[in-house]
Amino acid sequence: VIEVKNLHKAFGKNTVLKDINFTVAKGEKVVLIGPSGGGKSTLLRCLIRLEENYTGEVTFEGKNVNQANKDQLQTLRQKMGFVFQQFNLFPHMTVLQNITFAPLKLKIDEPDKIEAHAVELLDQVGLANKAQAYPQSLSGGQQQRVAIARALAMKPEVMLFDEPTSALDPEMVNDVLNVMKQLAADGMTMIIVTHEMSFAKDVADKVLFMDKGKIADQGSSDYIFHETTNPRTKEFLAKLM
Ligand code: ATP
Ligand code: MG
Repeated sequence: VIEVKNLHKAFGKNTVLKDINFTVAKGEKVVLIGPSGGGKSTLLRCLIRLEENYTGEVTFEGKNVNQANKDQLQTLRQKMGFVFQQFNLFPHMTVLQNITFAPLKLKIDEPDKIEAHAVELLDQVGLANKAQAYPQSLSGGQQQRVAIARALAMKPEVMLFDEPTSALDPEMVNDVLNVMKQLAADGMTMIIVTHEMSFAKDVADKVLFMDKGKIADQGSSDYIFHETTNPRTKEFLAKLM
């Protein structure tokens, strides 16, 4: 579904992505790990063109992301759900309104169907009883699960996660990871930046280790966590485990 070829990205003189190449197949779970500043977030942002002015090619379902016009870009972003570290829910809207806002605005379906789907999604993330609550009355973990439901409400083909649990209190991390594991088991195509290594081990079909703007090592989760001889990968993992 996604193909990245020879991707280079610089901020001024600082090259932050160098010759990035990888593909993501339908249903595949790709996990990005690596030290801070390595370029993980920038890479995710390039995939949905939140970053521009890069060279190389990003294609999604055969369409060139860099060359998409405004309409095509909107369709593209509809198909790629994005969940950030900060949940950014609309504070003046209820949980249900947060979830239905974009699908209603973009008219992806009839309003009653959008609403019914939102209720289903809330149930799926374990928050069926919070539909009428406002974000500030929810815990961080609950807000992040609403953010996941909000992304899913657009019926995306791919879900991108950028450290979705790193702003959460430890006791809430698992609630969010469990929702993501369920999503993975349901066959969603996912690209996930995370420092949760046991989650990565469980879920990843492919792990990319990013260091200083490059994919320094990559392979199956068995390879990365047990077999690799790459000193940078081993050093990084040793610090985390
Ligand atoms: P972390 O694990 O801390 O989130 P990361 O791997 O996601 O790190 P990025 O946020 O992609 O790393 O940053 C990669 C490099 O790009 C860093 O050197 C950062 O300073 C630089 N960078 C990121 N965004 C910008 C920007 N808008 N302007 C200038 N430099 C930027
Ligand atoms: Mg980041």
